[in-house]
Amino acid sequence: MFPFELLRSEASAANLLEQVRWRDGLQCPHCRSESVIKHGSYREYQRYLCKDCDRTFNDKTGTIFAHAKIGLDKLLFAFYSFVRFNTSIHQLDAEIDVSYRSLHRRVEQFARTLDAPAVSLVGPVEIDEFYVSAGKKGRERDQPSRSRGLSKRGRGTYAKDKPPVFTLVDRGNGQRYTVPAKSADETTVRLLLENNEKESLTVYTDGFRAYDPLEDDENFHRESVIHGDGEYVDGDAHVNTCESHASLARRWLSPHRGVSKDNLTAYLRPFHLRRRILRKPGREALKEIVQAVL
Ligand SMILES: [Zn+2]
Repeated sequence: MFPFELLRSEASAANLLEQVRWRDGLQCPHCRSESVIKHGSYREYQRYLCKDCDRTFNDKTGTIFAHAKIGLDKLLFAFYSFVRFNTSIHQLDAEIDVSYRSLHRRVEQFARTLDAPAVSLVGPVEIDEFYVSAGKKGRERDQPSRSRGLSKRGRGTYAKDKPPVFTLVDRGNGQRYTVPAKSADETTVRLLLENNEKESLTVYTDGFRAYDPLEDDENFHRESVIHGDGEYVDGDAHVNTCESHASLARRWLSPHRGVSKDNLTAYLRPFHLRRRILRKPGREALKEIVQAVL
């Protein structure tokens, strides 16, 4: 359920931030000392004095919430809706009474602050790519996905404003990754797959040639399905989970029609976060969203 009570006012949002931020104890953001005492307040926020460096700070100091003109309750509402409901910034702008520019800046800052998911593969792994029409901001066109099958030529590249996005599904630990790349080539594929714990990682792919070099590499056991031959599943060898994850990623990106190719990485990070909080109740989900940017 939507965490109304936590976002009721700036004071209740401040209270939430205080709880999440100092869950492991207070620490001075200037010198990391734990010798810190309460020292009045700054608006809705608790203020502190560091006994080591003599400097003061408050609950927002050193976070992306600092110096925001937008109240923390509104800001958290925006981030929550953005991640949880895939709300576009234009739609958020209609809900929140602040300038579009500053809201846009804050939401993108939020997305950029999220950690990139650390790829660590157990395997077996499905890998596949899809292509997003994302040029420079302002002249992006949303196009239907390329038809699969025989049309393997003319794959997109970053330079051609159609950057590839790789999806990796680790069947060993259930993790899924969505990683934008400059181009869909052997080097990129190797970089994506090198973070694994196996001596011989089983990799399922389609028939795209960038995956071919895995075939005679002792570190990999590659099995492929050739979609062009009307073959989609061959025992365990398929990339169906990648394809369904890719369609979720496409749907995730679609409300944000203005996403430029340089921002693709940032816009896909909240998509990862969204999956993490999917089954969590509103309160927990909101706390995790806050924690993810501290
Ligand atoms: Zn200090």
